[in-house]
Amino acid sequence: MKLVRFLDGKKKKTGILEDNNITEINCSMVEAFNNTEQFSKQGRYNLNEVKLLPPLLPSKIVCVGLNYIDHARELNMELPDEPVIFIKPSTGVIGHLDPIIYPSSSKQVDYEVEIAVVISKKAHQVKKKDADDYIGGYTILNDVTARDLQNKDVQWTRAKSFNTFCPIGPCIQTQLDPSNQKISLKLNGEIKQDSNTKNMIFSAQELVKFISDIMTLNPGDIISTGTPPGVGPMNIGDIVEAEVEEIGVLKNIIK
Ligand code: MG
Repeated sequence: MKLVRFLDGKKKKTGILEDNNITEINCSMVEAFNNTEQFSKQGRYNLNEVKLLPPLLPSKIVCVGLNYIDHARELNMELPDEPVIFIKPSTGVIGHLDPIIYPSSSKQVDYEVEIAVVISKKAHQVKKKDADDYIGGYTILNDVTARDLQNKDVQWTRAKSFNTFCPIGPCIQTQLDPSNQKISLKLNGEIKQDSNTKNMIFSAQELVKFISDIMTLNPGDIISTGTPPGVGPMNIGDIVEAEVEEIGVLKNIIK
């Protein structure tokens, strides 16, 4: 099932997306992870007639630095023995078709397509075998990065944290095998990243265990699982489309 948040006039609503139709449900996104049957179904909307919102507003976004075997090979780096993590601020979140604003303090802003785990309920010290019980679904995240500032600073916070540097969406897919999904990215229609999540070093479930051992994950928090090979720069006016097979396409324009 694909879940979306969208604007109807000025009202923010949650709905189930099927083909190009949205059926509104009277609950929040996090409530919808549990059982949509208990929520009454209301209006029907055409996808092309509403504005999609970021599917949710996480309290934090925990990202994984290097998590694809093919990306590590590309960089000539040894495979990490445990995940390297960092946090993007929630203030960076934008949705499908929202503009990514190119900051004047950077001269190289890169795309990074990633599959993102959405947490469904409070998670602390979760065992790997129980991790799926805490996952509400999966979305696409573009881990936009000011690469020149990342290389200059020892800490990555500045490079990863500009407003608009965290596009997520277009929907949350609640039923998906995260260990075997085609993942790709197009810049101005040209394929730049093209891999499969089976190349991930640490699985979604291992990441829920590792990160929830450190910090409590709140309902709606996001774990972004790292990017495959082929990262590169974007320029003002470019159109970037991040795609995961069973989720859809997250499209943004650079302004
Ligand atoms: Mg990344």
